[in-house]
Amino acid sequence: MSRKPKVVRTVFALRRAIADLRQRKATLALVPTMGALHEGHLSLVRLAKQHARRVLVSIFVNPAQFAPSEDLGSYPRTWAADLAKLADEGVDLIWYPTSDIMYPEGFATRIVPEGPAVVGLEDRFRPHFFGGVATVVGKLFGQCRPDFAIFGEKDFQQLRVVTRLAKDLDLGIQIVSGRIMRESDGLAMSSRNVYLSPENRRIAPTLYSAMRAASRQIRAGEPITTALAAGAQTITTAGFELDYFELRHAKTLEPVNSLHDGPLRILTAARLGTTRLIDNLAVWASRRKTLQSSPRSRSSRRMASGIAATAPAVAAPRSAGAASLVR
Ligand code: AMP
Repeated sequence: MSRKPKVVRTVFALRRAIADLRQRKATLALVPTMGALHEGHLSLVRLAKQHARRVLVSIFVNPAQFAPSEDLGSYPRTWAADLAKLADEGVDLIWYPTSDIMYPEGFATRIVPEGPAVVGLEDRFRPHFFGGVATVVGKLFGQCRPDFAIFGEKDFQQLRVVTRLAKDLDLGIQIVSGRIMRESDGLAMSSRNVYLSPENRRIAPTLYSAMRAASRQIRAGEPITTALAAGAQTITTAGFELDYFELRHAKTLEPVNSLHDGPLRILTAARLGTTRLIDNLAVWASRRKTLQSSPRSRSSRRMASGIAATAPAVAAPRSAGAASLVR
């Protein structure tokens, strides 16, 4: 039986509800979202429960991170379904503010992140974005003062930006990251996937398969530039307009030149019709890699199957109608 979470819509009510939740020193985890919840969000809620006694989910479509040309007006809003899902997960509290509450008349303070926010990935195509994210996350952290905040690896650059923010401002909040939840064909779950036409939905998993192929090639000793060019080509040939397909250091997000500069992450963003998709994948370096001379050697074939072994494990759907999941 699910218990309906308490829903609060003012900062005053939020603070009182949090004070109640924190009685007897209960720990608190915050899961910030923009709603239109899917299994990716719910996986973060489950992770939150592993870390803290109390779980708070915020739902706020943050205007500050959308450019005027972007989809703020049409961003999916599914409040009733979101509430039912969070009730099923046993969430304690939902913070569901309006824009007027978050940005009242006279609001004039903005957080401008640097470091991972300006490495030439999302920031190159959405220059307004991380300022908007950092400002709203800074506000959410101040309003909720959680012990833990849970963010998805799906938005990998964002994860690095908020981790930096919490550290740089000495907020005493531990950032916990959750793995990317995927549909059974590999497409990363996203609230924006509902915009895809049936034809584009069919093409969309190419983003993931191109990253997997590039990862495999890099691990097998192909030159990084060759592997990345092939991935980019696969994506554009499938019908995407590619923004970037890059290999970066997974911690700093700085460009890398060699497999040994790791840990490594492939990050990509591309547009299909009017929908912009982003995704990323870890490139696991193997110690055996350094011994191998040719991509066609036996050891490289063994490594390729090693990659297959780390490929998606399909999890059972939690409820009827839920998509099957790939981690
Ligand atoms: P959003 O509602 O899109 O702002 O996302 C809220 C949080 O959910 C962010 O930390 C995202 O990185 C995370 N998230 C979104 N999609 C996924 C996914 N497919 N798997 C895991 N986390 C996700």
